[in-house]
Amino acid sequence: MIPYGRQEITQDDIDAVIDVLRSDFLTQGPAVPSFEKAIAMRVGARFGVAVNSATSALHIACLSLGLGAGDCLWTTPITFVASANCARYCGADVDFVDIDPATYNIDIESLGHKLEVAKTNGKLPKILVVVHLCGQPCQLEAIRALSRQYGFRVIEDASHAIGASYKDAAIGNCQYSDITVFSFHPVKIITTGEGGMAMTNDAQLASRMELLRSHGITRDPLAMTHAPDGPWYYQQIDLGFNYRMTDLQAALGLTQLTRLDTYVARRKAIAARYDHRLSALPVQTPLQIAEAASAWHLYVIRLRLGEITRSREEIVQALRTAGIGVNVHYIPVHTQPYYQALGFRAGDYPQAERYYSEAISLPLYATMSDAQQDTVVDALAAALS
Ligand SMILES: *Cc1c(COP(=O)(O)O)cnc(C)c1O
Repeated sequence: MIPYGRQEITQDDIDAVIDVLRSDFLTQGPAVPSFEKAIAMRVGARFGVAVNSATSALHIACLSLGLGAGDCLWTTPITFVASANCARYCGADVDFVDIDPATYNIDIESLGHKLEVAKTNGKLPKILVVVHLCGQPCQLEAIRALSRQYGFRVIEDASHAIGASYKDAAIGNCQYSDITVFSFHPVKIITTGEGGMAMTNDAQLASRMELLRSHGITRDPLAMTHAPDGPWYYQQIDLGFNYRMTDLQAALGLTQLTRLDTYVARRKAIAARYDHRLSALPVQTPLQIAEAASAWHLYVIRLRLGEITRSREEIVQALRTAGIGVNVHYIPVHTQPYYQALGFRAGDYPQAERYYSEAISLPLYATMSDAQQDTVVDALAAALS
């Protein structure tokens, strides 16, 4: 079976994790702050707050930006459910903005129209979560301009996009956003097993997220309501969680990070080869905007269903039977039963729903060989004919 994605674990990774196992600290040791500094340096952000998943990072990012009951968070329907669920954890409402049919990222024109209407209704969002789908950055400059005009905060869900760049600067530098979130789940570009990180340039947001990832507890005398009772003393000054990353995970992340550039370069080469080899087939290959460079987490094709006699389901089934682990990213979030129960309906976001009916993610991972890729292309061509 050729999977749609898979991690690479090298001897360096294994050695680094074993070193931590033999050390004094399995968690909250030196590896976590080293990993935070290394990612912050790599992407050009002032602070990185490591946590146990991108989902946790999105949650504490929303809380640190003050999201709560009565507020609204907007995001795209074509994403993993976590990009929307973070609002619900905070008791806030969710709304969606349809996608751009060319890039599958949030549609800037629809966003502008929806904001104009929301302004007249007094229902502007507090936070917009933009998702760099497949690793291709959104139009961040336009998003920043709208956030200034309408006064909402921006979180970049860059779970797909570590190693991507926008206007020649790394995604994660938060030049156009308040917080950027990365995921280190094994299917993503680099992995820590489970893990995530929230990047920011704002010292207050960083310390608030550090507090929230560990029970709301501080050991900083300056943050306490009175002087410490003694050297054992800590204070819980807010309601937080246990969202900490372990040193085992951070050590793995550090060695994985040394291969980020090689991984993204290989993914880009595989994508270019797909573009070329699929050009004669009845499929739409991914369009890339000029001012950004994708990290190529996913390679999504859209079937030109009008030119094909089989359905998307039949083609996915045929590929899986042929040993090709294709997948679909994503089922539109607003069509999930949980969101339908909140009042969303099929038909609400036509571009997202049309994209979903045509999309297939082909296998793409750094260690994929040209021969494996040829097997995928041949199986796809056979399934389409
Ligand atoms: C994977 C993913 C997440 C969640 O990441 P975890 O680290 O598994 O919590 C959130 N958003 C998007 C777009 C993702 O792809």
